[in-house]
Amino acid sequence: MSQKVRKIVVLGSRSVGKSTLINQFVNEFYADAYYPTIENTYRKNIRYKGQDFECEILDTAGQDEFTPVNAKYAVGVQGYILVYSIASRSSFEMTKIVRDKILSFTGSGYVPVVLVGNKSDLHSQREVTAEEAADLARSWNCEAVESSAKNNDNIAKIFDKMIIAIEHSLNPPAEA
Ligand code: GDP
Repeated sequence: MSQKVRKIVVLGSRSVGKSTLINQFVNEFYADAYYPTIENTYRKNIRYKGQDFECEILDTAGQDEFTPVNAKYAVGVQGYILVYSIASRSSFEMTKIVRDKILSFTGSGYVPVVLVGNKSDLHSQREVTAEEAADLARSWNCEAVESSAKNNDNIAKIFDKMIIAIEHSLNPPAEA
């Protein structure tokens, strides 16, 4: 069976755990050191409903309100993983800014997104509730997941949800 290629970009504030979660998913290892991210593309196959998807996952250096959307983040890209840390309200706010920028760059009203609240192990430092993330995701017509890249908790789920969201956007269910 032929493989379908899916391009996914991982965006969010610096140090929310983007590289760690991608590495945890792709290589299944957790590095406890902080390396400022270099842009890197990773590949991994995901099997969903009997289909193989060859995922190209672009890690990015981290955005702030002044970072322009790079064409690389939009051209040929099918889905976005927007990551914040549950221990950082400002990183949660940044996901809204980043999504708005993607929408204006692509000129569309909708892009497939998975909203990820990483560092769910940092219970005592929590600044963002799961409920408000779920509300935000609902308003975007997408799904929210809380994960811990440190504990490999819910990491595979993020990518499964991303594949499902992309499939729905490419093959919308027929209207009743
Ligand atoms: P990036 O800049 O978003 O790519 O962030 P990194 O992946 O480089 O991670 C930044 C720091 O957060 C590193 O010290 C990681 O070890 C740490 N980190 C990443 N994920 C988690 C997590 O789920 N829980 C905790 N406690 N720390 C994490």
